[in-house]
Amino acid sequence: MNVSESIINIKKGIPENVKLVAVSKTKPNSMVLEAYNAGQRIFGENKAQDLASKQPELPQDIQWHFIGHLQTNKVKYIAPFVSMIEAVDSLKILKEINKQALKADRIISCLFQFHIAEEDTKFGLNVSEVKEILESDEYGKMKNIKIAGVMGMATYTEDEDQIRREFRALRNIFRELKITYFSESPDFKEISMGMSGDYKLAIEEGSTMVRIGSLIFGERNYL
Ligand SMILES: *Cc1c(COP(=O)(O)O)cnc(C)c1O
Repeated sequence: MNVSESIINIKKGIPENVKLVAVSKTKPNSMVLEAYNAGQRIFGENKAQDLASKQPELPQDIQWHFIGHLQTNKVKYIAPFVSMIEAVDSLKILKEINKQALKADRIISCLFQFHIAEEDTKFGLNVSEVKEILESDEYGKMKNIKIAGVMGMATYTEDEDQIRREFRALRNIFRELKITYFSESPDFKEISMGMSGDYKLAIEEGSTMVRIGSLIFGERNYL
């Protein structure tokens, strides 16, 4: 299947209220354009400089999501245009996003990345760390970020029960935060979970946003 067929096929299989983020990392602009021409508008990248160089060359109505671990010194490259930063994993990075968003006169949507996998290799916060951020004076003063929900990655495993458990844990975290801190804010609504191998399970467990790369663009070749 080519890029546009894959996009159409995936969209057919997911509910209308679930957003598709096409993960274009390492892929050329020509493939992004192919997906764009098939109607895709949200794309995900995980390297700030790659994203900053792609963005000016592609249609300006693309909504770019940053989906990887972001270093503080790289926020400035993407702050002028990025639509959502999905993987906020510290107060420090949130402060820098707020600072650079202010400079760019924008409000940037952010998700907290939670560590839900049993693997210990992945970035992410736990609930008490996020509560600490949300209750800090510094967070209270931030005017140029908007917390739009949560994001997580399940363990890379064949064990479907384990994947489900991890996704369910993220949905429960979302609910708890919604009730405790965001009951008055309609912006807090996204649960970003599910990738090429597990997005169907993720949707069954309440995902509102799936991030799919290889199923659309083919396997990635890392140098
Ligand atoms: C690469 C990546 C994806 C997409 O992975 P595929 O398995 O190719 O769909 C999704 N989320 C994050 C955070 C990624 O880094």
